[in-house]
Amino acid sequence: PTDNPTATATAGAPGRVPEDLPQRIQHYIDGQFVDSVDGDTFDVLDPVTNETYVQAAAGKKADIDRAVAAARRAFTEGPWPRMLPRERSRVLHRIADIVESRDARLAAMESYDSGLPITQALGQARRAAENFRFFADLIVAQADDTFKVPGRQINYVNRKPIGVAGLITPWNTPFMLESWKLGPALATGNTVVLKPAEFTPLSASLWAGIFEEAGLPQGVFNLVNGLGEDAGDALVKHPDVPLISFTGESSTGQLIFGNAAPYLKGLSMELGGKSPAVVFADADLDAAVDATIFGVFSLNGERCTAGSRILVQRDIYADFVERYAAQAKRVVVGYPHDPATEVGSLVHPEHYDKVMSYIEIGKTEARLVAGGGRAKGFDTGNFVAPTVFVDVKPDARIFQEEIFGPVVAITPFDTDEEALALANGVKYGLAAYVWTNDLKRAHNFAQAIEAGMVWLNSNNVRDLRTPFGGVKASGLGHEGGYRSIDFYTDQQAVHITLGKVHNPSFGKNEHH
Ligand code: NAD
Repeated sequence: PTDNPTATATAGAPGRVPEDLPQRIQHYIDGQFVDSVDGDTFDVLDPVTNETYVQAAAGKKADIDRAVAAARRAFTEGPWPRMLPRERSRVLHRIADIVESRDARLAAMESYDSGLPITQALGQARRAAENFRFFADLIVAQADDTFKVPGRQINYVNRKPIGVAGLITPWNTPFMLESWKLGPALATGNTVVLKPAEFTPLSASLWAGIFEEAGLPQGVFNLVNGLGEDAGDALVKHPDVPLISFTGESSTGQLIFGNAAPYLKGLSMELGGKSPAVVFADADLDAAVDATIFGVFSLNGERCTAGSRILVQRDIYADFVERYAAQAKRVVVGYPHDPATEVGSLVHPEHYDKVMSYIEIGKTEARLVAGGGRAKGFDTGNFVAPTVFVDVKPDARIFQEEIFGPVVAITPFDTDEEALALANGVKYGLAAYVWTNDLKRAHNFAQAIEAGMVWLNSNNVRDLRTPFGGVKASGLGHEGGYRSIDFYTDQQAVHITLGKVHNPSFGKNEHH
């Protein structure tokens, strides 16, 4: 039912394709760019044309073995785990400086490879720099835990890096999400093997040059590209990789959990979501409409914390729906490199087909008031019109399942209890957004909602010190702030007796 405005640039416009694209994408192992042991490659597509623009090395077990061996050597013999925190901190700050100084180039590459609008890709590149800076500061600020019993005992906690951390990342905002894991894993003195998503390997390959320039020792950072079932699987099953930090789909997380179980690995799982935005009748409606539009259509809707189910109190439902649909129709769809673009191209034709199939399912389940298919004016690529379904029933698939695109489901409710039941009535529990000016209701709702993160009268802004993570099918454990430091370190307790040693008397009975 809609024609979203399109940004002005065209597919053939100069500046769409970054000039300095690599000729091929390789692995990076022990300080060298290398091909796969078996020479295999896979196609990487330009999401605006869906044509192959580069070949990437397709890693398998043999490549993971090489990368883990290098990371293991750098851990057991190299300087990185033995450096003072402030020395590592300096390297991390240099990494942040380099990322900042190249933010425009990094954003252009990321936008081209993933289809993200350039302005949003720029924000993500800067956030990646911030992540490194944050962990660079945190690692020197962290006070070691000591517990004293005066005159008797001192107990202290010796935090040690664990070893080779396996980092497996998704294709949505890949560079930024990689920085969430690389920052704390490196700050704490671990060495790493990164397996980035196969849809978007370009930005990950840029870390290697950045790290070399910043002075990260050889072998500390290793990168293996490839498919999840090959390279990812081999990393999960490698006995010399004690930690796996994974971000991706819940079903993949379940598989990895099982595969890592025989090794009892440390696991951090940031998984899928179907997060509710609950709008009560007393809310600031202008702010709620703006935030819930942004919450589902920014980053092309390819966002784990997207508020993709909007629950609206019946008194304002008709008004909300009318305003929401009108605004969704004004969201500008365009080529990713155009600064006017608000929604770009979805990442890959496979993902486009998945989102389109959900739109077709939605048409049989609910009432369509905006979008509903391919964005007008685009003959190639993965452009989807921002799509709004209303009167969505809680048992509808578009209410229950993660679509991960610019598609939103709106559902009415009457009472607080009903809103809570709807909000919690899915398998996921990543984020929740609540809009109300009633203080008690807001906090009571936050307590009762099954979500790892709750935003009250707020769009999705996050202070880097706060934990990030989900409950239920949305994940296990938290990243962010000291939670990341905890995940990437062993906490060894050391106990020292200061005074007289009080041994219970054993084996001193002289009658026997
Ligand atoms: P995905 O699960 O398909 O892939 C993620 C990564 O896992 C990729 O690198 C992939 O190659 C790898 N992989 C796949 N199968 C594997 C296996 N058997 N063993 C080891 N590795 C394997 O997810 P995706 O489609 O790339 O990403 C989108 C998903 O990620 C969405 O569900 C989204 O909600 C979720 N996500 C969650 C968060 C969060 O913080 N909670 C953040 C971003 C994305």
